[in-house]
Amino acid sequence: MKTTLRTEITVAEICDGFVYNEFEGKGLFGLSGKLTIQPEYQRNYIYAADGGKREAAVIESILQGYPLGLIYFNKVAEDKFEVLDGQQRITSIGRFVKDKFAIKDSGGMPQYFSSMAADKQNLILDAKLLIYECDGQESEIKDWFKTINIAGVPLNEQELLNAVYSGKFVTLAKETFSNSQNANTQKWSAYVKGSVIRQDYLECALKWVSKGEIGQYMSTHRNDANIHELVSYFNSVIGWVSSVFISVESEMRLLDWGRLYETYHDQPYNPTVLAASVARLYGDSYVKNRRGIFEYLLGGSKDTKLLELRIFDDATKKSVYATQTQKAKAQEKSNCPHCAIGHESNKKKIWPLPEMDADHVTAWSKGGDTAIKNCQLLCKTHNRAKGNC
Ligand SMILES: [Zn+2]
Repeated sequence: MKTTLRTEITVAEICDGFVYNEFEGKGLFGLSGKLTIQPEYQRNYIYAADGGKREAAVIESILQGYPLGLIYFNKVAEDKFEVLDGQQRITSIGRFVKDKFAIKDSGGMPQYFSSMAADKQNLILDAKLLIYECDGQESEIKDWFKTINIAGVPLNEQELLNAVYSGKFVTLAKETFSNSQNANTQKWSAYVKGSVIRQDYLECALKWVSKGEIGQYMSTHRNDANIHELVSYFNSVIGWVSSVFISVESEMRLLDWGRLYETYHDQPYNPTVLAASVARLYGDSYVKNRRGIFEYLLGGSKDTKLLELRIFDDATKKSVYATQTQKAKAQEKSNCPHCAIGHESNKKKIWPLPEMDADHVTAWSKGGDTAIKNCQLLCKTHNRAKGNC
């Protein structure tokens, strides 16, 4: 890979022909049309997030005469370039010069580029950027791209995969799943966690359709001219969960619905009954893990481990142990009620506390409380054998 350092390109030249696409949330072109700011392997523009502090900081730096850091261009043809690293900074500059956002002046008032004094405008327009032009094979560029951090915000796993497998498929997939203007995003956000522009939705869709083998799937489908399978699988999962669970709870976005869909989608459910069960379990103070409620119900309300039910505390255990053991000694029986009625040698055994576990007399699943009156101690073997809570 050949690199050339350019030190004479100014902000004014970069911003000549700058276009910002509001719909897709990205800067597109600059340098009189010779520069593509967001090639398909690039991430979406994220500097406007968090109230725009990052994009304002870029402008402040220029006004103070601070360096903006190295910017890398990839030379794709004679006089044609793509931004390899620096897209966020260039987009910030372009957006400011086009009056897309304001910075604060010394009095704290918002100041747009067009309302600045001419000398300050020129300070920005005449600022020179430090640019490396890289000339190399696509694979070299992509390998290299994979190893760098972009302007202080490292690429996440999915952004890297988008860079490595860039092509028609990624472009189409991003139009659907990485586009914050997509009206479906609102509905999807009930079941998918994360940020649209940081590729979390795309990652989720790919994870579901590929059963977790995202890289392999992207490699196989890299040159596909459509994303039908990706979209229809994603819609099947979302359609299934939203018809089975008719109410939306915040914990739902933390679940791997792709796996649950694969496991349970061919079983019939009554959505009204499920909704009542969800509401009941949400109101049950013994349920510690609310996100386990959905799989617990899908699986027929059997696996109480998913709910991480609240267990008896040490004080309760000690107190019950003392009463139970005293009584057992008086009757010359084992202090484990199950051992006491058995025929083995443990019939009269007095277990020490560390070898016993607390158990619900009436199981939680049958309405039993996690309260002292519903607590008994069993030896570890019998408690394990009893199994359910
Ligand atoms: Zn026992």
